[in-house]
Amino acid sequence: MNEQKNDEDTVGTDLSTVREEINRIDRELLRLLSERRACSSKAVQVKELVHSPIRDRGREEQLLLDRIQIAKSFGLDAHYTTKVFHQILDDSIHAQQEHLQRLANADKAGDALVRVAFQGIEGSFSHMAALECFSSRTSQAVYLGCQTFKEVMTAVEQGRADYAIVPVEDTSSGGINEVYDLLLHTQLAIVAEKKSRVVYCLLALPAATLSGIKKVFCSPAAALQCSNFLSRLPNCHVEYSTDASLSGKRISEGSDKSVAAIASEEAARLFGLAVLERGITNQEENYTRFLIAARKPVKVDLRIPCKTSIVISTAQKPGALVEALLVFRENGINLTKLESRPVIGNPWEEMFYVDFEGNLEEDRVKLTLDELTRKARFIKVLGSYPCEEVPPTQISAKQRLNSGANAGAEIKPVAKAAAPAPKVSSKAKGYRLGSREYKAEDTIIDVRGIKIGGGGFVVLAGPCSVESYDQVMACAREVKENGGVILRGGCFKPRTSPYSFQGMGYEGLDILAQAGRKYGLPIITEVLSIEDMERVAEKSDMIQIGARNMQNFTLLSEAGRMHRPVLLKRGMSSSLEELLQATEYILAQGNQQVILCERGIRTFETATRSTLDLSAVPVLKARSHLPVIVDPSHAAGERDLVPPLALAAKAVGADGIIVEIHPEPEKALSDGPQALRFPEFADLMLRLLA
Ligand code: PEP
Ligand code: MN
Repeated sequence: MNEQKNDEDTVGTDLSTVREEINRIDRELLRLLSERRACSSKAVQVKELVHSPIRDRGREEQLLLDRIQIAKSFGLDAHYTTKVFHQILDDSIHAQQEHLQRLANADKAGDALVRVAFQGIEGSFSHMAALECFSSRTSQAVYLGCQTFKEVMTAVEQGRADYAIVPVEDTSSGGINEVYDLLLHTQLAIVAEKKSRVVYCLLALPAATLSGIKKVFCSPAAALQCSNFLSRLPNCHVEYSTDASLSGKRISEGSDKSVAAIASEEAARLFGLAVLERGITNQEENYTRFLIAARKPVKVDLRIPCKTSIVISTAQKPGALVEALLVFRENGINLTKLESRPVIGNPWEEMFYVDFEGNLEEDRVKLTLDELTRKARFIKVLGSYPCEEVPPTQISAKQRLNSGANAGAEIKPVAKAAAPAPKVSSKAKGYRLGSREYKAEDTIIDVRGIKIGGGGFVVLAGPCSVESYDQVMACAREVKENGGVILRGGCFKPRTSPYSFQGMGYEGLDILAQAGRKYGLPIITEVLSIEDMERVAEKSDMIQIGARNMQNFTLLSEAGRMHRPVLLKRGMSSSLEELLQATEYILAQGNQQVILCERGIRTFETATRSTLDLSAVPVLKARSHLPVIVDPSHAAGERDLVPPLALAAKAVGADGIIVEIHPEPEKALSDGPQALRFPEFADLMLRLLA
């Protein structure tokens, strides 16, 4: 542990002295970061000489494990250390890639003046993306604001600018059609992409109030993305403007307190406006992807992950699109985007915009394009360009636990039983879609990259109820540190007595979502009513339907209409056949992402809260392709029984467990007696994952 000054010392120190100390440390950190960057640029020169790849996953893994271990000795947690080093490695990889790109394109190290055309004025989202993109590449850039996307492209085509930056799609409202149509006709080549987080704000004069706003200027895209917020503004009229930043500027020049604009926080700063509300999009995480185009295509060094964009229209005969797509599969090429647009003037004919992973310089890509050309009525290559994202090297909890970070502990890992050979019951009664007969292979459910089913073992953990910000944050940290992958927390509680704590509702869900984001953990929470389903599904990565609702058929059907994985708990007096029939209500509505959960049933035995029916696991696995997880907490009702039951669940072949933890179980508002304390949870995780 690091040394800590005692209280007297701390009290005796005034704030300005502490701040001085912080300033000194930050200066030192920055100096070291710059020194590290210099080292990394030396490394790329060596890599260039010996033709070695930019990334070496093994070395990155080793580096992360090593840094996590050092950080631990300073009292820093693994999640924090990983985040910091992901950022550092990302910077280093980008810098090295840019170096190679300059060499490949004989670019004079970015000291020439570049002119960048964008749509809008200063403070617009395009302008901000342009700044993000070019400020690191070149010391001198001038930005040319244009009124329309077409003017942006024309400025580059006519040589008045060197680069065009245009938004092409965003994560909540989809593709920007006008830009797709321009790409079809332009002579420019795509040379880069940029993904930028967009945080829309409602801006108005400083004296304005939210209730006094009568008119809002915004772009059509912003209106779509902020529709929920706009619908909550009473008597307010929306007026489209192609440039909301410009509307903001006009508002700042006038004196009307009843008008507002949806624009960036940067625009508020530039024009002296107040931010009446921040982050008003329907989806909190809102990203726009921009493309950067130039007159000449770029060459991308083969060591850099690369994307290529093309436009294609296929013959109008059955199966023509499938045939074209098969060419990609045959050449082992991964598609990252497929978007269709009508061909103007030819009703019912479509143009397909395709992005794929690959470089025009690669043989397999050349081959693919040759074959596609033979099958197409029209094909145009828009360009090859470096992928913007650098996928970070991830360290699994198992790697971390086995890396010596816990040296000294003698842990015997528990092996997971193999799933029983699918025993097909030919008389599957009342269910079909969930049965092995219908689908022989295991379903693997993907929750933001976390895979449930198909051989692995995952741990979902968190408090029974969300009680406070601090409680949930503490739990989330603990889950992450010990290798849990999904954060649970009840916000709407199905309590046996109406006088018991009923949960924090949506306020709790916001806390859970914040904790999930902070620690990079998807979240799961229970839904009790159909009215809440959609709103909960917007925020929660998974939906839980509890034991008491296993046969609430309208609720099941509603969950079947969502696009979120559903964890369905076995009713406490339900047979396995009834569980599978209940599952069918969800599947039949379209949602195929269901996870079954054994959580204990009512028997004559009273020694435990419920009787954990471990035989449910192999039976369900034999009858259904869906993942099965076990909840030892609600079955046991008593914390000491939870670890042995959890280990047994793994041994019997479950795909994971869901377990309750609490920083102070004696103060818990629900299910305290069964909640593991943090050290008990850490110990269990070592046994499960080591
Ligand atoms: C829960 O997981 O919070 C819960 C209420 O569980 P069950 O529905 O299994 O009782
Ligand atoms: Mn509970």
